[in-house]
Amino acid sequence: MSSIRTNSMTNFLYQLDGQTWFKEQVTDEIGHALRVDNLLYEGEIDHQHIVVFENERFGRLFALNGFIQLSTADEFIYHEMVTHVPLYEHGAAKRVLVIGGGDGGVIREVLRHEEVEEVTLVEIEKSVIDFSKKWFPGVSDGAFESERLNLQIADGAAFVKNEELSYDVIIVDSTDPVGPGEVLFTEEFYADCRARLNPGGIMVTQCGLPFLQPAELKKARDNQAKSFESVTFYAMAVPAYSGGIMTLGFARAGGVIPAEGEIHSRLARAGLDFRYYTPEVHRAAFALPAYVGTILNTGSFA
Ligand code: SAM
Repeated sequence: MSSIRTNSMTNFLYQLDGQTWFKEQVTDEIGHALRVDNLLYEGEIDHQHIVVFENERFGRLFALNGFIQLSTADEFIYHEMVTHVPLYEHGAAKRVLVIGGGDGGVIREVLRHEEVEEVTLVEIEKSVIDFSKKWFPGVSDGAFESERLNLQIADGAAFVKNEELSYDVIIVDSTDPVGPGEVLFTEEFYADCRARLNPGGIMVTQCGLPFLQPAELKKARDNQAKSFESVTFYAMAVPAYSGGIMTLGFARAGGVIPAEGEIHSRLARAGLDFRYYTPEVHRAAFALPAYVGTILNTGSFA
């Protein structure tokens, strides 16, 4: 039984049995650690604590204020599901808004859809974009240089208050509801997003891990339901996000559910291929476990 040596090197990094480990404190009572095989960067930028390191199983990882944002080994799961589900449900999105998403993974996937004429990215921290370009060029894969990209460095909540803007799909690829991300889970923010959507528009939101963050999920649903005609969720498991399935909010501004087979047809017309997304996974992701339904009704499943 190895003992934990407490000579921690710095925030989130510590030594154990001669190895360096990155510890993510997921909740007060749960943490998980990844072995640091190569520490590439650790420090503060614009009051944000950033760690970039490599791990044999997860590839290169990016942590913001102690929370893992992505790993190069499994980022395709989250970025494909948060992007292609709303875009294939909508079927004719021309204007897409991404809030957060400074690593560039979502805009990379959005730009694969040729029918999208403009994608606006609103990221509050320019340093995250600069960082991602330097350390994770494969995640954005040139998306930041696209002529179809409208890049804004701003608070997403303030941005959507602009009366002149309208979109077909809004993707909120935010951090969890702490710090600058907190405002992106409020009733007011969702109401402003609803006002920015064209008829038939769709908003998708990062809504955390229901097993560990049940109250966050219920609060997001209750706040979205005050502005949107329909609110539901879909789920997938992202290994780098420890704690079971992750839920994504799916809110419609009117519009209709595509007929059976229509998602297949849209996928066939686009001719794109994916590492996680399939029309079957698309449909199945909306089949939620019973305990998630209990959370949505009661705020917990104890
Ligand atoms: N996929 C990750 C997840 O599920 O946790 C999120 C990745 S992305 C790096 C999250 C981004 O949201 C960060 O770059 C952060 O700076 C940005 N962000 C947080 N609050 C924001 C706000 N109010 N407006 C715009 N961007 C914000």
